[in-house]
Amino acid sequence: MNLAEFIIHIESFNANVNIPLVRKAYEFSNNAHAGQMRMSGEPYVKHCLEVAFILAEQHMDSTTLAAGLIHDVVEDTEITIEQIRSEFGDEIADLVDGVTKIGLVKYKSREERQAEYFRKMLLTMARDIRVILIKLADRLHNMRSLDSLSPEKQHRIAQETRDIYCPLAHRFGINKIKMELEDLSLKYLEPDIYHELINNIQEGRSERETYIRKVVKPLKASLSEAGIAATVYGRAKHLDSIYRKIRVRGVPFEDIYDLFAIRCIVRTVRECYHAMGTIHSMWRPIENRFHDYIANPKPNGYRSLHTTVFGPDNQRVEIQIRTHHMHHIAENGIAAHWLYKEGRHEMSKSDRQMVWLRDVLEWQKDMTNPADFLEYLKIDLYSDDIFVYTPDGKLIHLPKGATPLDFAFQIHTEVGIHCAGAKINNRLQPLSTELKTGDMVKIITNQNRTPSHDWLKLVHTSAARSKVRRWLKQAGFEQSVSLGREILQRKLRTLRLTIPNDNIMQGYAEQLNRKSVEDLMASIGNGEISALKVISLIQPDKQKKGIGLVNKVINRIRGSQGIKIHGLDNMMFRFAGCCQPIPGEDIVGFITRGRGVTVHRSDCNVAMDLQLQYPERQIEVSWDTTSDQSFVVRVKLIVEDRKNMLRDIMEAVADFDTNVCAAEMYARDTTAVGEFVIEVSSLSHLNRILDKIRRVKGVISVARMLGKEKGDIKPDES
Ligand code: MN
Repeated sequence: MNLAEFIIHIESFNANVNIPLVRKAYEFSNNAHAGQMRMSGEPYVKHCLEVAFILAEQHMDSTTLAAGLIHDVVEDTEITIEQIRSEFGDEIADLVDGVTKIGLVKYKSREERQAEYFRKMLLTMARDIRVILIKLADRLHNMRSLDSLSPEKQHRIAQETRDIYCPLAHRFGINKIKMELEDLSLKYLEPDIYHELINNIQEGRSERETYIRKVVKPLKASLSEAGIAATVYGRAKHLDSIYRKIRVRGVPFEDIYDLFAIRCIVRTVRECYHAMGTIHSMWRPIENRFHDYIANPKPNGYRSLHTTVFGPDNQRVEIQIRTHHMHHIAENGIAAHWLYKEGRHEMSKSDRQMVWLRDVLEWQKDMTNPADFLEYLKIDLYSDDIFVYTPDGKLIHLPKGATPLDFAFQIHTEVGIHCAGAKINNRLQPLSTELKTGDMVKIITNQNRTPSHDWLKLVHTSAARSKVRRWLKQAGFEQSVSLGREILQRKLRTLRLTIPNDNIMQGYAEQLNRKSVEDLMASIGNGEISALKVISLIQPDKQKKGIGLVNKVINRIRGSQGIKIHGLDNMMFRFAGCCQPIPGEDIVGFITRGRGVTVHRSDCNVAMDLQLQYPERQIEVSWDTTSDQSFVVRVKLIVEDRKNMLRDIMEAVADFDTNVCAAEMYARDTTAVGEFVIEVSSLSHLNRILDKIRRVKGVISVARMLGKEKGDIKPDES
C-alpha cells in the first residue's frame, strides 16, 4: 500500500477525512524515518501507514490518523515533541506523547512491568482514550509482522500482547483487534496447538460452508417475507476462543459444534426481536442458550441477541442478531465513539468504559504493590460477569466470584459497611458464598456492624476492596485519636493537669506540624509524637518535675518494634509479660487504656479472658519483624546433676547466634533445675535451640516457661 492507495481507502471509510492533514503527517513521518528499515526489510514509514490504516478501518477521526502516522517519530528519530507541537498542534502532540510515554516504561520484573504499564496506560487514557487505540493498532501491526524477529523476541512480544493488550482490547470492547491479537499470540506462544487447530478447522471447512448455506438461504427468505431487510452470513469463530474451550472446558475438538456462528444484521432494535421470533418459529431453540445482551449489555458495551437452535439436519447453530450500529460497536468497542465524528473526542461521562476506567483509577491509588495491582486488574479485565437481583427486581452486574459483600457495596457503600448477613434466594448464607447468575440477594444490615480485616478476604471486586480498605484506614485514625487523647489525659493527670481547650491545643498542634488537634492526638496515639513533648508545651516548668515518671512510663510502653497493627500505623504496643509471644506464634492485640496495644499469644489464658470480657478492645495484629530483632523468652530445664552440665548447655546454645541474658541452676536430689533467659528471633529459632539443648547428654527436659510465676511451666509442644 502506498500513500495514494491509502488515501483512497480512508476516504471510503470516512468521507469527511482531512486529506491535507493526513498527507502532511505522512510526509513528516516519511522524512523523519528516512533511511530507517523495519526488520522485515521494508522502509519504516510502511509500518506507520499500516498503523494509520488499522485506525482508519475503525473509522477513527483525522487527528488520530495523523497521530498514528507519526506515532514513532519521537521515540525513534531526532524529532522532539515540541517540534510536533508546533507543526501539528496540542491535540496530536499529546497523543504522540502519550504513545511514546507508554513505550518508555522501564523493564523491571515482568509483573512489575505489566502493572506499571497498565498504570501508565490508564493514566494517559484518562486524558485521551485514543492513545490506547493507537497503541493497539501499533501492536497489531507489530504482531502481524513478528515473523522477521528472533524466536526470543517473538515469544516476549507475544506474551506481552497476551498479558496486556488483549485484556485491554477486551475491556474496551475492541473485539476485532482483540481476536486477531489473541490468535497471533497463540501462534507464537503455542505454535503446535495453533497449527493443529488450523488443520482441524481446514478439514471440515467445505462441509461447514455447505451447511452455512443451508441455514442462510431459508433464513434470508423468511426474514424478507416478514419484511425485515437483513444481512445474513456465517462467520468462523476465532482460534483462541476455540482453544480456550478445549483447554478450560476439556471439550475435545470434534465435539465443539460452534466453530462458526450465523450473524444476522438488521436495521432497528425492534427488528432484532422480530427476527428472533422468526428464527425460533423456524427452528427449535435450545433452552438456556438465549441471551439478551440488548436489554442487559455486557460491561464493555456489547449488545446483541444470541440464540442457539436446532437448525437444518438437527445440527446446533448459534445465531447472533444485532443492528448495524450494535455491530459497529461489537467490532470496534470504544473506538465506535469516533464514528464519523470529526473533531469530537470528549466522551459522555456515563460511557460504560469510562465508568470502569474511573473506578480503576480510583482504587489503584490504594495499591502500592504492583503484583497486587495486577492481580486485581486482571480479575476486573477478564472475569465473566454474573447478574443477580435485588429483592425488588433490580439487576446488579458483578464479576464472577463476587460475594454478597460485593453485592452490598455495589448497592451502596453504607449498605456494605453495615452488612451483617445475606439471604440468597431467601435463605441465610455466609458472606463468603459465591453468587451465581439469577440469584436474588437480600442484604441484612445492622448499624453496629462495621468492616474488619477479614472482609478483605471476603470481597472479590476491587471496588469493594478499596471501600473496605478506606473504611479501615479511617477507623484506624479514629482509634488513634481516642487512644492519643487517653494517653495524654493519663500523663497529665499524674501531673495534676488537664488537657487545655481546643484553641490552645490547636496552637500546639501547629507548633508540632499537625493540621488539627485530632491529627495531633492521632500522632500521640500512634507513637509519632510523644505525650511528653506535648506536655512540655503545655507546662514548660512542670516538665522537669514530671520527666522522670513520664519518661519511665513512656519508655516502658514504647517497647520494641516488630508488630504490625492492622489499620493503625505505628501505634504503641508492648508484649504481655504473661505469655511473651515470639514471631511465628499466633498473636492477638488488646487496646489497653492509656498504654497502647498489648500483644498476647492467642492461646494465652489472660488473652482469652480479655477476649470474653472486652471483645471490643480486641484488635488484629501480625508480626512485622526484621531479621536483627530479638525477643526474650524464658526456658526451664531439668537435667542430670553432672559435672560441666552448664558449660555444655551454654556451648550448645552458643551455636545459634543467640544471647543468654541470664542462667541459673540449682540442684534438686539427683537432678538439677535450670532457668535460662535467652534472646531469639522467632519461634523456629527457639525450637532449633531447644532441640539442640535436648540432645545434650543428661538433659531430661526442656520447656519454654510461660507466665510470670516460677514453676508455672507449660510443656513446650514442639
Ligand atoms: Mn510503532
